[in-house]
Amino acid sequence: MSTLLLVEDDLAIAQPLMFMLQREGFNVLHVTLGRTALETLQAAATAQTTPPAAVILDVGLPDITGFEVCRQLRGFSSVPVLFLTAQAEEIDRVMGLEIGADDYVTKPFSPREVVARIRSLLRRAALTVQQAAAPSTASTAARPFELDEARAQIRFHGQALALTVTEYRLLRTLLGQPGRVFTREQLIDAARGLNVGSGERAIDTHVKGLRAKLAAAHPASDPIRTHRGLGYSLEP
Ligand code: CA
Repeated sequence: MSTLLLVEDDLAIAQPLMFMLQREGFNVLHVTLGRTALETLQAAATAQTTPPAAVILDVGLPDITGFEVCRQLRGFSSVPVLFLTAQAEEIDRVMGLEIGADDYVTKPFSPREVVARIRSLLRRAALTVQQAAAPSTASTAARPFELDEARAQIRFHGQALALTVTEYRLLRTLLGQPGRVFTREQLIDAARGLNVGSGERAIDTHVKGLRAKLAAAHPASDPIRTHRGLGYSLEP
């Protein structure tokens, strides 16, 4: 049974959501503060407790914002994150990349919709793990990258990247054939389950996030090339 971490201070929202998630067979761990969420996730990351399969994260928390929680979380984990947002400005920030969210729903939402999004995030994460477990046929070293499929992890100039599931799948695809130009459509396909409504623009947003992480790992490097009107490739 998958455990989900729900971070939401508004009980009128948290309770019906927990009820629905539990009815659908999930274990739900509910906390109301951003710091408590980070402590819980840190404990899980250091193997003291079982890590949650996904995090449902409210943006407006009483202590630190959901954005800050996600930013810090990405320093040590690529657990899928579904944001609960209240306003349009929040959505722009969620999809904007320094943050590393995997998906979002806007309030007011039906608990059913959240269940559907969570299932989709978990399916994507499972696919990534399955592929990681399968013997690799792709080239694993397109220096300066190292792809560790068993751990679903990619290192850049020796630095492990804290990628979201979507970013991992995108970079893994580009790494499979350095130099090849992938269209946005092909990349959406590779990252399966990307929020379909946001389509091709979502790819640009995820690529932007990926670039920011690569630059953070190794300043002044940008191995991803943009081909105007076509798509993206990785420097051969
Ligand atoms: Ca709130």
